[in-house]
Amino acid sequence: MTKNINTVVNSHLCNGCGTCYSACPKSAISIHKDLQLGILIANIDGNKCINCGLCLDVCHSNDILSGHKYPNNSIIGAYNGIYSGYSLDNTLRYRASSGGIVSSLLRYLKTNKIIDGFVLIKPSDKSPFDNYPFLSHDVDDILRYAGTRYFPIPVNMILKELSKMSGRYVIIGTPCQISALRKYEEQNRSISEKILLRISFFCGGVPNLNAYKYYLKMHGIDEHKVRSIYRGMGWPGNNVFELNNQETIHISRRPEKFFAQIYHTLAFFPVFAQKRCLICNDRFGAASDISVGDAWIKQYESDKTGVSLIISRSPVAKDILSQMQQEKELLLQESNEKELIYSQRIFSDYFNNYPTTCRFLLGKDYINRHFDPDKYKMNLFWEMKLFLITTGMRLSQIKILWPCLFLYGVIFRYGYQWLCLAERLKIKIHRSFSL
Ligand SMILES: Cc1cc2nc3c(=O)[nH]c(=O)nc-3n(C[C@H](O)[C@H](O)[C@H](O)COP(=O)(O)OP(=O)(O)OC[C@H]3O[C@@H](n4cnc5c(N)ncnc54)[C@H](O)[C@@H]3O)c2cc1C
Ligand code: SF4
Ligand code: SF4
Ligand code: SF4
Repeated sequence: MTKNINTVVNSHLCNGCGTCYSACPKSAISIHKDLQLGILIANIDGNKCINCGLCLDVCHSNDILSGHKYPNNSIIGAYNGIYSGYSLDNTLRYRASSGGIVSSLLRYLKTNKIIDGFVLIKPSDKSPFDNYPFLSHDVDDILRYAGTRYFPIPVNMILKELSKMSGRYVIIGTPCQISALRKYEEQNRSISEKILLRISFFCGGVPNLNAYKYYLKMHGIDEHKVRSIYRGMGWPGNNVFELNNQETIHISRRPEKFFAQIYHTLAFFPVFAQKRCLICNDRFGAASDISVGDAWIKQYESDKTGVSLIISRSPVAKDILSQMQQEKELLLQESNEKELIYSQRIFSDYFNNYPTTCRFLLGKDYINRHFDPDKYKMNLFWEMKLFLITTGMRLSQIKILWPCLFLYGVIFRYGYQWLCLAERLKIKIHRSFSL
């Protein structure tokens, strides 16, 4: 019986997180690009593999296939504090994606010699679409590489290097990467002492590698002239394109013009999406020490610099946040579960309709094995939304259709909104009849 990650790869649930690459004792795994699907994917050299199963044990997608439900059966996971807040360094707060919490944490820990370094992300010299993790000991890198990079990135490839280092580090990743990191730590106990904090983002999904290519094309920017892409510079900020000639182009992430709105919807909502993200069962990074995201709440609607929501989970995370608050590095205000969930409303849809999503994408057989079909009810509205998403995904894979994808973007945007409204109406009617 095969015990390696080929089961995950063949189900199209690999998202190239890189954990299996680090776990393989025979260096049999490499991470490749599938240019049509726009995803990173693990590949095994059959001549080197000894079928030991270590790669499968660290794979977060294997959890999905083996039927793991939401962690703690809760959408957020365990926590010891929830806050809204931001960095009190205005330059950093503006340059960062949200409130600059991650960059502030890194800088505080490094300048106070609590850590030796951190894992950051930068683009390769050859392409702005290929982004890689690197170990940095340089505090200046924090501002240089602040901001969110919405790309598939094999963050956990760094674990191979990290396991050989001495000192203490901070690692940052998406929830699936942090959950795979924890599994890797179970196999390699000594690495846990080297990681002071595991920081996770809240995660609505990683757009695939073609998303920014499409976006650039539609905005008339030559992708070959771009060397680095990230989100930053205010809030909700801009898509920032650093060009080879040192110029920078900023395109707002709250576009005003209709065309730009549709391009934004297509690139950053689930159309240029990855299948794995649609069946994600951990959007808040339940395995992290600290999870961070944007404060999409009314109170901060008009904020132009950036506010974050922060979930503290471990005692060490809580201590560090409170020290930083006392030393006026951060401004933190108590928040709560309700506000947090409201800020990421779409995640509740995924959470409440998880069996429907699994059935839609993994088939009836999966449901019969992992959910009780008598208890589980299909949500027709959610199924229709998934239909819109997956149709868009298929169309986006055909590059020659990109110039007319705009039309689908209009259908997607208004179709999705209409379905949300119809669903709310149905719930209201249902409630009033059951009173
Ligand atoms: C793929 C993705 C999807 C997200 N989806 C949501 C969402 O749906 N809702 C929400 O509220 N927030 C989401 N976030 C988080 C949000 O965009 C901000 O990254 C987060 O709030 C941290 O902001 P900050 O100002 O504290 O970070 P900053 O101070 O700007 O620091 C960000 C740090 O993260 C590192 N980094 C950047 N990109 C990556 C990456 N892809 N992988 C690993 N490290 C990286 C940088 O090197 C930098 O050190 C997402 C983030 C990512 C990467
Ligand atoms: S561990 Fe990550 S890279 Fe490896 S198969 Fe699983 S998802 Fe893919
Ligand atoms: S089964 Fe073992 S040897 Fe084979 S790819 Fe996985 S970790 Fe490597
Ligand atoms: S949505 Fe889930 S699977 Fe996709 S990148 Fe985010 S955490 Fe990973």
